[in-house]
Amino acid sequence: MTEAISVQDSAFPRQLVGIFSVFNSGCPVNIAPTSIKLSAPGGVLVRWNDGHEATYSYAYLRERCPCATCRDTPPVVKTTPDPFPIHGKDVIKVTGAAPVGHYAIQFNFNDGHATGIYSYAYLREICPCAGCRRQAD
Ligand SMILES: [Zn+2]
Ligand SMILES: [Zn+2]
Repeated sequence: MTEAISVQDSAFPRQLVGIFSVFNSGCPVNIAPTSIKLSAPGGVLVRWNDGHEATYSYAYLRERCPCATCRDTPPVVKTTPDPFPIHGKDVIKVTGAAPVGHYAIQFNFNDGHATGIYSYAYLREICPCAGCRRQAD
């Protein structure tokens, strides 16, 4: 009498999940996110398949947009969040994202910009966490 119920977990885009390669020592070529949460506290929370995770603030991502336009003319974005977001339109936000193949993600920003393709390698390279920043110095 029991009916089978199939539950589909659609919490994450499937394209962002499923790379099972383990960290090659010293050569993180197979590093990929296992989840990307666009509206985490403080920005975009990225969890990686090697267990690493970090939150990228929206301004941080926007300033590092890798598209040709932004590399030529770095965007001016508000980096300090307003304590009272009355002028919320001034504060940069990610409004959406789409996976690009199996190697990158494209972010949509509330300033209308959406041409930046952030490869996972690039995302990981600019990881803003204290540990990665220290290594980058
Ligand atoms: Zn750009
Ligand atoms: Zn990091």
